[in-house]
Amino acid sequence: MSRIFPVLRTSCFHNPTVIFSSPTPNIYTTTKCSLNIPKEKKKRKKTNQNNSGKVSPTTVDIDMNWRQSLGQRFNWGGIVEVLGGGGGAETGRLAIPHLSVPDIRWIDWKELERLGFRGVVFDKDNTLTAPYSLSLWPILSHSLRQCQLAFPGRVAIFSNSAGLYEYDPDGSHAKALEESIGGVHVIRHGIKKPAGSAEDIEKYFGCAASHVIMVGDRHFTDIIYGNQNGLLTILTEPLSLSQEPFIIQQVRKLENYLVTRWHQQGLKPPNHSLLQENMQCIKAPDL
Ligand SMILES: [Mg+2]
Repeated sequence: MSRIFPVLRTSCFHNPTVIFSSPTPNIYTTTKCSLNIPKEKKKRKKTNQNNSGKVSPTTVDIDMNWRQSLGQRFNWGGIVEVLGGGGGAETGRLAIPHLSVPDIRWIDWKELERLGFRGVVFDKDNTLTAPYSLSLWPILSHSLRQCQLAFPGRVAIFSNSAGLYEYDPDGSHAKALEESIGGVHVIRHGIKKPAGSAEDIEKYFGCAASHVIMVGDRHFTDIIYGNQNGLLTILTEPLSLSQEPFIIQQVRKLENYLVTRWHQQGLKPPNHSLLQENMQCIKAPDL
């Protein structure tokens, strides 16, 4: 009898659930059970408050104009790439992550390193920080430290805001972010996710993209980018929807609607060779 491994899947449309999967990462069965997501997580999603009840920290967008800020997150390229492809099976598969978790605390970094991965790239906004913020979302600090211990010197941010030449031409935003979140390098690059190759990532880590993990909160940017370049993809729930413009929230709903539909149609993410034997890379968070 084959072993059964739990895989977390979440969606803006559903309460978080655990779906039990076979050892092959792309095979999901329908057995579900409730998952005890910490109550403070649910509260923060709507209130934009941290553990102390205060409004989330530093924002850096005061001098950003509205169009630029919106453009970073409302990536028409990502939408067009998926829908322009007819929303068919191939594009649908690329939008489905290998793993989905509520946030990075649920990721077992040691296990991923043991499986052979050599580096981790994070999206920034709503994955590590609130939108427009330079500060790490407070409750994620322990997990990020665990990640840095498992992948010393091999943890980076690959963002459509900080480090993207279009919006951060002199790299000042990237540098400020590196200073704010110690020990995490911001990869400078020229093309917005999901477009572009993994050349900059491979150059930074010195290994093939297939040995790198992409963690992000958006199907049409982070996940498509990661899957089409051969990375392992892990989707997180957004940290703070209240700080996103209304239109972005609607796009996010569209993404989730399409991906849920593709998933129900039986589409699977691309195979990843390092995950064929073992899916035990998700754990209950240290609270
Ligand atoms: Mg994001």
